[in-house]
Amino acid sequence: MIKAQRGTKDILGPDVIKFRQIEDVARKVFQNANYKELRTPIFEDTKLFARGIGDSTDIVNKEMYTFFAPNNEDSSITLRPENTAGVVRAYIEHGMSRMSPPQKMWYMGPMFRYERPQAGRQRQFHQVGVEMFGISSPTADAEVIFLAETFLKELGLQNITVEINSLGCPDCRKKYKENIKNVLGKYLDKLCDDCHVRYEKNPLRMLDCKSEECQKIFALEDVQKVILEDFICEECHEHFEKLKEYLDGLNVKYSVNKLLVRGLDYYNRTVFEIKSENLGSQNAVCGGGRYDGLVEMLGGDYTPAIGWAMGVERLMAIMPDISDNLIDYFVVSNNQTEAIKLTQKLRENNKSADFDFSSRKWVKQLEKASKIAKYAVILGDEEIENHFLTVKNLSTGEQKKTSFEEIIKE
Ligand code: ATP
Ligand code: MG
Repeated sequence: MIKAQRGTKDILGPDVIKFRQIEDVARKVFQNANYKELRTPIFEDTKLFARGIGDSTDIVNKEMYTFFAPNNEDSSITLRPENTAGVVRAYIEHGMSRMSPPQKMWYMGPMFRYERPQAGRQRQFHQVGVEMFGISSPTADAEVIFLAETFLKELGLQNITVEINSLGCPDCRKKYKENIKNVLGKYLDKLCDDCHVRYEKNPLRMLDCKSEECQKIFALEDVQKVILEDFICEECHEHFEKLKEYLDGLNVKYSVNKLLVRGLDYYNRTVFEIKSENLGSQNAVCGGGRYDGLVEMLGGDYTPAIGWAMGVERLMAIMPDISDNLIDYFVVSNNQTEAIKLTQKLRENNKSADFDFSSRKWVKQLEKASKIAKYAVILGDEEIENHFLTVKNLSTGEQKKTSFEEIIKE
C-alpha cells in the first residue's frame, strides 16, 4: 500500500471548502485593493533562492528540495520554499519596473520545505501572500499590514495579534550586530550549534532561535539591555514612527516586539508577524517585512518593496468548521430513465442535483438523500403518469406535491 509522503496531506471533505473560501476571500479582498494575481512556476533555479533568501537561513541550509534536471547535471533546480524570490524574479523578467509604481501583486499556491512534520508544519504546505514594489514610504508598510488584518477579519478570524519591529537599514544595523555579538560572545558555550553558525554569519538571526536554552540566555538582564537598545538611525526611526501613526489611524492593534527579526536575510526596516492565540506552538499565521535591497540583489534596478505570506493550513486550523456541503436535490426513483433525465434538467437550471444510480428500495434511497441533500425529489409511477413531482424537505420532513417549474422558481 503506497501512502502519501510524510509531511504532505490530501485536502478533502470540509477542508476543501475552507481552502476554497480562503482563495475566494483572498481574490475579493486583494482585488478590491488593486493587487493583481500572479502565478509563478513551482520550481526555479536553485541560485534564485540561495541568493534571494540568503545562505545563512534555515530554509536554504536545511529545508530545500533540490534536484538536477534530467540529463543535465549542471542545472540545479529547487521546489519553491517561499514565493517572494519568484515574484521578484518575475518582476525583473517582465520589466515591471518600467511601469508606474506601485506594482501590487498577490499569489496563492504550494510551497515545499524539508522540515520535521508536526502540527502546523508540513513539507508541502500552501501560502497566500502579497508583494508591493516601488514605494519606500511607510504608507506602503501600513497598507500591507492593514490588508493582512482585513483579510483575516473577512475570513472570520479573531484573537489575532499583530507584532511589528524595525530592523533598521544595513548601515544602522552594523553597530547593533557588533553589540549583540559582544554580549552573546560571553555565553557562546551555552548556545546551540546553529547559533554558533549564526554568530559568525548573521548574529541578529540568533534572536529568532527556537531553542529554549538559547532563549533563556537572551532573557538574561545584560543581554536584554543590548537587545532593547534603540539602535536605528534617525531616518529609520522616523519611518517606524510614521508607520505606527498610520496603523493607529487605521485602528490596527499592534505591539512592538524587539525580538522579532524574522527568518529571512533580506529584510530591512519594517518586519511584522501575526499570531493566533488559537494555534499551539506553531502560532504564526503571517510573516512579512520590507525588502528594499532584494530586487537589486537579484539583478534588477534598486526598488523598494514590502510583502507578507500566510500559511493556508494554519488559517484552515483556526477557521470555524464548515459542514454545510449539501446538494440541493436528490432524485429518488425506480425508473432510471426518468431519474437521470430529471437530474440533468435540474442541473441545467443551476440546481445541484444527483440520483441513486440504482433502483433499490426507496427507504434506502431516502436514507442516502438525507445525508447529502437538502431536498429529495420523489419520482414514482404516479408522479410520472400524472406529470407532477413530490418534494420532501429533508431537514423538516415536510412533503408536498409540486411541479418542475415550481422547483426551479424556488
Ligand atoms: P516558522 O517560524 O513557523 O518556521 P517561518 O518564519 O519559517 O515560520 P515564513 O517563511 O515567514 O515562516 O512563512 C510565512 C508563513 O507560512 C508562516 O507564518 C506559517 O504560517 C507558514 N509556514 C511556514 N512554514 C510552514 C510549514 N512548514 N508548514 C505549514 N505552514 C508553514
Ligand atoms: Mg520555518
